[in-house]
Amino acid sequence: MTPHYPLFINGEFVETQNKQDIINPSNGGIIAKVSIAQTEEIEHAIKSARDSFDNGPWKSLPFSERKKYILKISAGILEKAQELAELESLNSGKPIKESTFMDIPSAASSFDYFANNFEEFLKEETIKIESQIANAEAKLLREPWGVSVLIVPWNYPLLIASWKMAQALAAGNIVILKPSSLTPLSVLELSKIIKNAGLPKGVVNIINGSGDIVGESLCSDRRVDMISFTGSNAVGKKILEYTSKNVKKVTMELGGKSAAIVLDDADLELAVNGLLCAIFLNQGQMCTAMSRIFVHEKIYDNFVNDFTKKAKRVKIGDPLNFETQIGPLISEGQRKKVMEYIKQGKKEGAELLCGGNIPEHEELKKGFFFEPAVFSRVSSDMKIYKEEIFGPVACVVKFSSIE
Ligand code: NAD
Repeated sequence: MTPHYPLFINGEFVETQNKQDIINPSNGGIIAKVSIAQTEEIEHAIKSARDSFDNGPWKSLPFSERKKYILKISAGILEKAQELAELESLNSGKPIKESTFMDIPSAASSFDYFANNFEEFLKEETIKIESQIANAEAKLLREPWGVSVLIVPWNYPLLIASWKMAQALAAGNIVILKPSSLTPLSVLELSKIIKNAGLPKGVVNIINGSGDIVGESLCSDRRVDMISFTGSNAVGKKILEYTSKNVKKVTMELGGKSAAIVLDDADLELAVNGLLCAIFLNQGQMCTAMSRIFVHEKIYDNFVNDFTKKAKRVKIGDPLNFETQIGPLISEGQRKKVMEYIKQGKKEGAELLCGGNIPEHEELKKGFFFEPAVFSRVSSDMKIYKEEIFGPVACVVKFSSIE
């Protein structure tokens, strides 16, 4: 039977009439149905969070008490590590090796880290100041900010949620978390761990739903004190518009176009292997993906040759198989977007050395798989050089001097 996931509001699991199908990117099948928050549930979550901050115990607990709850969350994640890793790979398509050794342990250690290292940071400080007034001094107090809305993308669903949540909770804030509607499953599993950890009611609320509806309602509401957003530049701009109405505190981690520079005295093998990983990890769907690789002209041909040879050998397949190095992209829409960049790169004169196609193996046909691509002869006026592709596409650029 298809699993159902409710929302998590005020310490309770909340079922809604409206459900959304969650798709397995490896084969397009439905893997779960999740409740969708609409006006009523959004209001419920904001009210619970507000009440929990204004009248609940969380912000006034001694740090040593908050720490115990946060460590229970970390332990809860580790207890279910294998199950969570499988779920993350099933829902997001990332190879199981990555979710097993990176995403899930790092999510647990985020809670661990803030539980064990934050107390010192929260301590009151007295600062001596030069003043005409005798005995004047300044005090630095660090207080919880209030109701924090955390909005996360689909590329590291549990990990980014954990980074944000662990520090918000350690500082005494209240959380409303909105996962990406493509990948809510691991975060909804986290709600069970939080329930078991026994946090006071309303301290963590998790609501799933469309970015435009749930996101806008949360970001525009006066009762929300802060937004922490990770996602695209386009949505970041919208959030700035919503929050400008009541001047909220906002933090943003947006898109990227990272670069690596390979100098002429580099260890070629090390550079090739490191950069294969830096661009093809998580199918290149990373804001830190090294999508621009600058290589010195003296070693350019050798680099391109070795890099392409190895890129052709990267194993594409079922993300639940430990041998797999590249799983499917997150959705058909994402694959179309990446393929558009391939077309554009060729049109603008870059040379496609390998990949850039939908693989032909029968068992991959139903999923959103895509062969990792390597472009050479890329120049700085090309779209593939300038824009975030968010897929497994490496652009190798020749340079003659570091200046
Ligand atoms: P996205 O911006 O489409 O969505 C991110 C989140 O915002 C999702 O939860 C989505 O539901 C929500 N959202 C969508 N519309 C909204 C709206 N109108 N109001 C409020 N929330 C809304 O991004 P994505 O496609 O999930 O992720 C890919 C992008 O995220 C890439 O651009 C990538 O670079 C960026 N990213 C950045 C970092 C970083 O650390 N800088 C990390 C991961 C991803």
